[in-house]
Formats: sequence, structure tokens, C-alpha cells
Amino acid sequence: MTEKKDITTKLLVIGGGPGGYVAAIRAGQLGIPTVLVEASSLGGTCLNIGCIPSKALIHAAEEFEHARQHAAGSPLGIRAGEPTLDVAQTVRWKDGIVQRLTGGVGALLRKAGVQVLKGWATIEDGKTVTVRGADGQGAQRVRCEHLLLATGSEAVALPSMPFGGAIWSSTDALSPDVLPRRLVVVGAGYIGLELGIAYRKLGVEVTVVEAAERVLPSYDEELTQPVLESLRKSGVVLHLGCSVLGWDEGQGVHVRNARADEFALPADRVLVAVGRRPRTAGFGLESLQLDMAGRHVAIDAHCRTSMRGVWAIGDVTGEPMLAHRAMAQGECVAEQIAGHNRRFEPMAIPAVCFTDPEVVVVGRTPAEARAAGLDCIDAAFPFSANGRAMTLESTGGFVRVVARKDNHLIVGWQAVGRGVSELTAAFGQSIEMGARLEDVAHTIHAHPTLGEAVQEAALRALGRAVHI
Ligand SMILES: Cc1cc2nc3c(=O)[nH]c(=O)nc-3n(C[C@H](O)[C@H](O)[C@H](O)COP(=O)(O)OP(=O)(O)OC[C@H]3O[C@@H](n4cnc5c(N)ncnc54)[C@H](O)[C@@H]3O)c2cc1C
Repeated sequence: MTEKKDITTKLLVIGGGPGGYVAAIRAGQLGIPTVLVEASSLGGTCLNIGCIPSKALIHAAEEFEHARQHAAGSPLGIRAGEPTLDVAQTVRWKDGIVQRLTGGVGALLRKAGVQVLKGWATIEDGKTVTVRGADGQGAQRVRCEHLLLATGSEAVALPSMPFGGAIWSSTDALSPDVLPRRLVVVGAGYIGLELGIAYRKLGVEVTVVEAAERVLPSYDEELTQPVLESLRKSGVVLHLGCSVLGWDEGQGVHVRNARADEFALPADRVLVAVGRRPRTAGFGLESLQLDMAGRHVAIDAHCRTSMRGVWAIGDVTGEPMLAHRAMAQGECVAEQIAGHNRRFEPMAIPAVCFTDPEVVVVGRTPAEARAAGLDCIDAAFPFSANGRAMTLESTGGFVRVVARKDNHLIVGWQAVGRGVSELTAAFGQSIEMGARLEDVAHTIHAHPTLGEAVQEAALRALGRAVHI
């Protein structure tokens, strides 16, 4: 293998996902000589096999379902014929969006003067990394002052059902050749449910198996109830409190329930969505002997690891494994390397499930506030009393606010309902800006919008809701 000339840079970023590419762009903007190494595609999990393609598939599935509903006789007076689906075209359309976005990231990196190396990075020491291209065209050594780990995470497989063939990871489920007739989804976390619901809308028979007794087990029960109802209404079959034992082509997925009864669920494809693990192996990270926190790299409030000059951001640093956290950390690290005084200490990191209905959590739930010793009030406003929700034929769900009793400082927002993901901006801002219930209650919210439920929740917490 031919060796290429060594490169020396101030910042070397390993991983071109939302954490790594944002860090590199911001560093470039700040005039920091930066090299970014990416083994696969710019944009990482998020743009290529995560957030964006899953939301594209969810949108296509929703459109298909609407067309089917219109064909079945719409109360809106829309008359349409029975639709058909060209899934290959759906996947091409989704891939087109991914290509536009990943191409855009490449252009932004170029504009910021970042040098992008395509290849696999292996750490030699805290200041030296070797990059090997997939083409075997020679290794390149990069020496740096600051090393940023942004290697992301990977799907966890079940030992009894390794990925391949009929056993899908989320990546496979985002690019189907044909639609299966029967899909079993293992895991009712947000990835399993988002994809399971989309497949159901595309006309697939979907069964979900979950070890916990509830869907979306990490969310509070009141919030997930509308999702449970919608799953049942849509015909998704749920096996909660059940563990998966294995799979065979003849019988399908072998399952054991809480009473230790065993049964099989026939399936053409099985989507295993039981979680993701930080990517910490296979690139020499062990040689640095960094402090770990369980499976992920331990970081402090500056995103510094236990070794001077080595930083880490995004999924490799653990929960919440979300793209917007990775991006915010990336920006924070770049600015610190440029000498700015920054810390990564957000008041809240929003979490959104793009299920049907959508679920949003920003800040503390009532139970979390209680557990933190806060004396809080909480109030919810239902979409059944919101005019805009009625015009969207979507009156299920609610907006809930949590605020301190003594000074009405807002500490949390939760919502479940159609389109509530778009309310996260208002939720996040009110918490970061230290808003009180009165601030939101006295802000004029446009009518008719779902956002009026935000104002009404604040009014209700103050004991003076108008529209309920
Ligand atoms: C199906 C699905 C849906 C999701 N939906 C959402 C959502 O709606 N909202 C949300 O916020 N999050 C969502 N996520 C999570 C989100 O994708 C991740 O939190 C985010 O991508 C993490 O960013 P990152 O930069 O830490 O890592 P990644 O995006 O995983 O990027 C890491 C990159 O590093 C590269 N890499 C790793 N090791 C090396 C090496 N040694 N050399 C060179 N390159 C290397 C990898 O190829 C990869 O491109 C979803 C994830 C999945 C799987």
C-alpha cells in the first residue's frame, strides 16, 4: 500500500454525521484549519439512514393512507379511485432528498474550507490518526492539535436474530425492494414504532413485540395513550411484555409472553429495533484509554474527554442520541477551540417521536419535576377544543405545561397530537428564555393554529383557560 504525504491540521474530526459535520463547518467558519474523515457518506446516520429518510417514508405512507381513505369515501367530499403504490419510486424519491442534503453538506464543508478525507480513521494516539480509503489507495497520516470523536452509533442486533436476509435493521426497512406482506417489529421504542406505523399505512400487516408492558416505554403513560389507541385503531397487533426467542422461515418469530407461554408470529420480514449502541470499537479508541461511562465515551460540560485535546460529541457520548444534540455539541466544541467561552449545558433537549400521533417532550414531565423535588403545577389543553385541530380532522391529543408553583417558571412542555413536532421551537424557547406561565399566556398566538393550545395550556395552569 502506498503511503500518502502526512497532513498537519489544528482540528481533526472523525465522523461526518450531524455532530462531526457541524463541528467542522463551524470550525472552518472560525478560521480553524480542519480535516474531517468520513468512511461512508457525509451526513452520517441522520441524513443517510436515520432522521431524514425515515421522515420521508413516514410522509409517503401518510399520503398513501390519505388517498386510500378518500377512495373509501371521504367526509370532506373528495372522491378518488383506489390508489396503488410504486415502492421503488417511493425509495427513489426518498434517496433524492438524501442526495440533495448530503450534497449540500459537502458544499457547505467546501465553502468553510474544510478538507474532507474519505476513508476509515484509525487512532494511533491522541494527536495522530491514520486514514485508509476503501479503494486501498494508500494510508494517510493526519496529525492534529485537537481530535474530535463524532463516530456516532450503530443498531443493536439480537444474538438469536443477526441482521441479514429477512431480518432487517432500520437501515434495511428504509430501502425496501418490495413491501413484505407481514412485518414483525421487535421493539416499541420510537424507531420501531415510527417505521411500524409507516409500514401499516403502506398496507403491510404489522405486529409489534415489546418486552416492556407499554409502547414507548421511556415516555410517560398519559402521553403515549393516544399512540396506543391509534396503533390499535390502525390494526397494528401488539404483543407487550413479550420477549423474542428466535426466528425460522417456516414459523416466523418465536415469542414468550409474561406467563411463559410460547408462540410464533408468521412474518416475511422482521425489523429489529431494540436500540443503538455508541460506536467505540474498530478504530483504535481503546488505545487512548479514555474514561468511559458505561458503553459511551465520558465527557464533561465542555464535551472534553479525559484526555487533553480529545473531544467527543453526539451518539458516541450516549443519551439522548439525537441529531440536534450532536449538532449543538459540535458547534460548542468548534467555538471553544476558537477560544470562545462555551459550555454545553442546555436547559432542555427536545425529544420527538414522529409516530401517529406525534409525541413531544421538552424539559421536565410532572413526575420528573416531582422527583427533582420541585413543587409544580401542570395543566393540559386538549386538541378537541382547538379549532385548527378540527379543520385538520385531528382532535386527539393535548398540550401540557409544567411550571413551578412559587414563581410560575416553566420547566417542561409535553404534547401529543398531529403536527406537534412543530411546537418544539416554542417549547424550547420558552424554557431557555426562562419564560413564566404569564409570558406565554399573554403572548398573542395566531388563530386558528395548533399553537393556541400552547397559550391555553398556560392559561389553564393559571386557572383561567378561556376555551374550555
Ligand atoms: C431510523 C432512525 C431514525 C432517527 N430519527 C431521528 C430523528 O427523527 N431525530 C433525531 O434527532 N435523531 C434521530 N435519529 C438519531 C440520529 O440519527 C443520531 O442521533 C445522529 O445521527 C447522531 O449523530 P452523530 O454525528 O453523533 O453520529 P452519526 O450520524 O452516526 O455519524 C457518525 C459518522 O461517523 C462515521 N464514522 C464512524 N467511525 C468512523 C471512522 N473510524 N472513520 C471514519 N468515519 C467513521 C460513520 O460512517 C458515520 O457517518 C434516528 C436514527 C435512526 C437510526
